[in-house]
Amino acid sequence: MSYVILDLEWNAAYSKRAGRFVNEIIEFGAVRLDDDLNITASFAALVKPKITRRLNGKVKQLTKISLDELKTGGVSFLTAAKQFAEFLGDSTLMTWGTSDIHALIENYTVFTGDYHIPFLTTYCDIQEYCERALDMYDEGNQMGLGACAELLGLTFSEDEQHRADADAYLSQQCLKAVAKRLPLEQAILHADCEKFYERMTFKNHFITDIDDPDIDRAELRFRCDQCGKPARRMKKWRMHNKNFSSEFYCKHCGRKFIGRVSFKKRYDGVKVNKRTLDIVPKKKKEEQPAEKTTA
Ligand SMILES: [Zn+2]
Repeated sequence: MSYVILDLEWNAAYSKRAGRFVNEIIEFGAVRLDDDLNITASFAALVKPKITRRLNGKVKQLTKISLDELKTGGVSFLTAAKQFAEFLGDSTLMTWGTSDIHALIENYTVFTGDYHIPFLTTYCDIQEYCERALDMYDEGNQMGLGACAELLGLTFSEDEQHRADADAYLSQQCLKAVAKRLPLEQAILHADCEKFYERMTFKNHFITDIDDPDIDRAELRFRCDQCGKPARRMKKWRMHNKNFSSEFYCKHCGRKFIGRVSFKKRYDGVKVNKRTLDIVPKKKKEEQPAEKTTA
């Protein structure tokens, strides 16, 4: 088994033809790893931009790549991708987070009209793998590469980061540091199928319709947070910050409380978040001290 960690740099370029901004890939950087996750080879290619002749300030500042460098040392996206495919061979492709995959899908779509990444057969998201291995997986709060390296006590130079080869190298360091904690095979996905692209392009979202068939009706029932007996819903469901919210009453102990539940639709299911809150009595206007409103 061998692996290739890919890191791309891209530039937000306005495409007149597409009528929107496209993350145009300007650099490929990669390292190949053996079974023991040691680096055995590296790859680098610059891409001559086609969509725009301007690099935005953030890219210049972060990557320190100049347009001259890309013009003289760069090849077309498809040429660079072909060279990378040869480097990849039948290794498993790895990236830190899925944004590089999104960038590849976008660039293939723009330059070939087909969103498939032809060299992709098996894939591993190292970011998710590291988060799971460290027991810090939280979908809403992804760990940056630098943060992960720091957490693992790895030393790196901030100056060298944000160039494709340096990021690929640091990803390898993180991967190797956590690899004994969790079997890596579990994190490898088959990627030469439509299911993979569905998974990659799926947008997580909160369900806002109470009648949505993806809502498990049992999750709309609440137990009294005081005595544990089933409580009765007293009002209609209301939306409150992506949560469904209503008042509940427990006839066993007389407790009244707010039940709140949210349903987040993800590619592999619905994540339910339920909690109860105390009912805060609303203050009547005349009860407020007069000086507060006139001051
Ligand atoms: Zn009760």
